[in-house]
Amino acid sequence: RGLSRSFRVATGFLGAGKRSLLAVDDVCLDVAQGEVLGLVGESGCGKSTLGRLAVGLLRPSAGAALFEGHDLASLKGEGLRRMRRRLQIIFQDPVTSLNPRLTVGSALAEPFIIHGVCTRRQAAAKVSSLLEEVGLGPEHASRYPHQFSGGQRQRIGIARALALRPSLVLADEPVSALDVSIQAQVLNLLMDLRQKLGLTYVFVAHDLAVVRHMADRVAVMYLGGVVDVFAAQDFADPAMHPYTAALLASAPQADPARRPAAPPVLGETPSPLDPPTGCRFHPRCPEAAAICRQKRPALRPVTPRRLCACHFR
Ligand code: SF4
Ligand code: MG
Repeated sequence: RGLSRSFRVATGFLGAGKRSLLAVDDVCLDVAQGEVLGLVGESGCGKSTLGRLAVGLLRPSAGAALFEGHDLASLKGEGLRRMRRRLQIIFQDPVTSLNPRLTVGSALAEPFIIHGVCTRRQAAAKVSSLLEEVGLGPEHASRYPHQFSGGQRQRIGIARALALRPSLVLADEPVSALDVSIQAQVLNLLMDLRQKLGLTYVFVAHDLAVVRHMADRVAVMYLGGVVDVFAAQDFADPAMHPYTAALLASAPQADPARRPAAPPVLGETPSPLDPPTGCRFHPRCPEAAAICRQKRPALRPVTPRRLCACHFR
């Protein structure tokens, strides 16, 4: 609700100046239980920051992230610990998210022990069944992260995130560091586990093809704001936001006949340190008019299934 988050960033010679960068700017967004919400946009648009705010890994500068009605920033002690179990993250880079000095078995046992689910001895059996759940075997428990391939490491990252049976999982570009040939396997595993465990995903990606494959609903971000929210079956809706149309047009598409007619995104993304006035997309928008430079369009319903932030939708 009205979520914003700014960061102090160094600018100028040797970081002499410090300025505030508004990474997420006044976002209201709902995620329904059991759905996969795809969060897309170019790099630097704030999608990872918004995802981290949603699972309470970052604190908002303004507004609130609510989970089942609880403001995540207000939780403390036991309440916070219980919530931590229910909100988990699958990181983009399985290499840096796994401790190289811990065997995979120890890394996977950690959450059980930290949260007092069982003793270290009992954890071994739980680790074996977790490994099996993600398509690995009990023999993998005694190995170290460097002994696994990228795809296997991401399976371990998934196992760790799901160990405590969370409700909401932030998957932050979970396959972008992987070879294309194994991306589909990992995505299918995520979908199987969602079915089996009744998970809700916030699925962050810059790759529209991945989001199309995974998401029930899609939220498009541009320079810190959500500009378009729609059901995945409406990817071809002609009423889409001009930025979504441009993203789709610039996405690699195997069959040129299926490429939408919108022109590609024009020019570079403006710096989030100096966002444009009015509609932040106006310098690149083929439909921009005078009002777009002056007034920022609010995200509002344009059809029963679509929210859009554009003066002309
Ligand atoms: Fe383009 Fe104006 Fe709509 Fe922004 S408000 S997307 S600039 S038409
Ligand atoms: Mg990111």
